Amino acid sequence: MSEIQSGQATDGLRHADILIVGGGLSGAMLAAQLLRLPGKRQVLVIEPRAELGRGEAYSAVELGHTLNGNAARMSVDPDNADDLTQWLTEYIAAGGWPESDEQQVPVSELFPPRGMFGLYVQQRLSEAQAVGAVNKSTVEHVRAEVVDLQTRDDSVLLTLSDGQRLQGVYAVLATGMFPAARTPQTESSGLNGAALDPWDVAAMQQLDPQSTVLIIGSGLTMVDAVVSLEQAGHCGPIDVFSRHGLLPHVRRQPPAWADFLAEDQSIRTPRQLMRELRRHCRDAIAQGIDWQAPLDTVRAHIGRLWNQATDVQRRQFVRHVRPWWESHHHRSPPLSAELVERLRKEGRLRIQAASFKGLAPSVDGAVSLRIRRRGESETTVVSGAALINSSGIEYDWRRVARPLPQQLLARGLVRPGPLALGIAAASDGAVLGADEHVASRLFAMGPPLRGMWWESTAVTDVASQAKALAARLATTPPL
Ligand SMILES: Cc1cc2nc3c(=O)[nH]c(=O)nc-3n(C[C@H](O)[C@H](O)[C@H](O)COP(=O)(O)OP(=O)(O)OC[C@H]3O[C@@H](n4cnc5c(N)ncnc54)[C@H](O)[C@@H]3O)c2cc1C
Repeated sequence: MSEIQSGQATDGLRHADILIVGGGLSGAMLAAQLLRLPGKRQVLVIEPRAELGRGEAYSAVELGHTLNGNAARMSVDPDNADDLTQWLTEYIAAGGWPESDEQQVPVSELFPPRGMFGLYVQQRLSEAQAVGAVNKSTVEHVRAEVVDLQTRDDSVLLTLSDGQRLQGVYAVLATGMFPAARTPQTESSGLNGAALDPWDVAAMQQLDPQSTVLIIGSGLTMVDAVVSLEQAGHCGPIDVFSRHGLLPHVRRQPPAWADFLAEDQSIRTPRQLMRELRRHCRDAIAQGIDWQAPLDTVRAHIGRLWNQATDVQRRQFVRHVRPWWESHHHRSPPLSAELVERLRKEGRLRIQAASFKGLAPSVDGAVSLRIRRRGESETTVVSGAALINSSGIEYDWRRVARPLPQQLLARGLVRPGPLALGIAAASDGAVLGADEHVASRLFAMGPPLRGMWWESTAVTDVASQAKALAARLATTPPL
């Protein structure tokens, strides 16, 4: 229990034990874990969105924007893998998702819409609030953006966009991902000014259905955009450009495979990993087993392997393996993948290996891009009626032109993580300052720790980090 009493405001500051910056999945799950621990604590979650627990991913309004894993893989309870399946079973029984009947698969194999998953997160948070109430622990949503943060010996101070100031014993950066399409950048190519937001369903409905749409990026965000275009009745050509022209593979339900990385601790470098992984995939295919089976065993070890790798090895991985890792590992939900495949077969969706080289002057209201196709030295200009930026996530905080990341960097309270992916932190999430000093009161979780663990974004990553960090914050007495 902290020495700071929640709610005191005599010094113009509002006080709490723990200040969570960002109320997406990470912030909500951390709050829920804190509420379930013994002891009384006041938690404030500072989040500009109207609802907690949704963030970027689970604010989705399109039913076709589903999780990319089935219910059995997406529990937010690290101690109960069936938690989402159980919630979904009750939700469907209560009439919540009548369309799920059409899929005729067990609930554990359903891929729920992401907006529905947001409801599940919210329900688990409110159940935790009821548990916490027994100890008089509270969580409150403060609706604002944190624009500055300072640390003192005995506390952390936040300044909010509405001028409020908050003081806490600890603060946690749960600020999530910065999708390139929605993130103002310190060095802008002008792309976002010319492009549609990939999740702006209303904008897609305004397009001429026959028009040509250009999309930059061929990952899961592109898949979302294609689903929305289809829903909006678009029937014109869709030209997708990405450096390697690789599409996400479809998620299947492979059988279990021996956890070869647990059995063989000598595998340490990206090269060794890829060699062994290929061997296991070949063995699986030879036995008539899906290659996804061996690949899925790697997930549990990737954080350890990445964390112990040298920067040179990490760079090799990013350079040579990343595009394949992304397309093989970050898989598409089956219904979305079927749609993409159908449009490809009809010749309406064309995937091209080409890099975006800049915008070209537009003629007659069209959007024009300069691209360089793989293997060619000259650039080509391509045009369409609309452009969608699905180029992924901006992980380099130095390029994110938002007040908090810029202030934290300027104050030296954080420094870029390995390969400038997110920010540097110790293994318990305590952030590292510019001087390598390990913060005693400032922590981070989720996507900002991409550089520390490589995979630090998926539901299961966030859920287990929330549990560990809550235990860390609850057991460490204030300094
Ligand atoms: C479109 C999309 C689909 C995804 N689909 C899946 C999936 O199917 N399966 C899966 O496992 N993972 C998926 N993910 C990955 C993962 O589950 C999410 O990134 C997850 O939501 C991470 O939660 P988060 O709370 O850390 O981040 P976010 O959801 O990004 O939430 C961060 C929150 O912090 C707030 N914030 C940021 N800065 C500040 C500030 N300065 N002050 C106050 N608040 C701030 C933002 O408003 C935001 O609400 C998806 C991600 C995206 C973007």
